[in-house]
Amino acid sequence: MDGAGNADEGWVVRPVTGAATTKAYRCPGCDHLIELGTPHRVVWPVGALDDRRHWHTPCWARRHARPDRFRRGGRRG
Ligand SMILES: [Zn+2]
Repeated sequence: MDGAGNADEGWVVRPVTGAATTKAYRCPGCDHLIELGTPHRVVWPVGALDDRRHWHTPCWARRHARPDRFRRGGRRG
């Protein structure tokens, strides 16, 4: 059963406070930079910390509307 609240299953999602931001990162959701001091999310597949990405908080939320683009097992190259 797919229960509500398991949308991030398979991913580790950590909030990052603006104060903890030390450099600008490019958000894979919108392809824009996350500016210094912007609270956002850092996300990686469980067990694959090296694949971590920094996302704008709303971009990560919107990702769930397009599960075909970043779904588990859909990695390429
Ligand atoms: Zn974004």
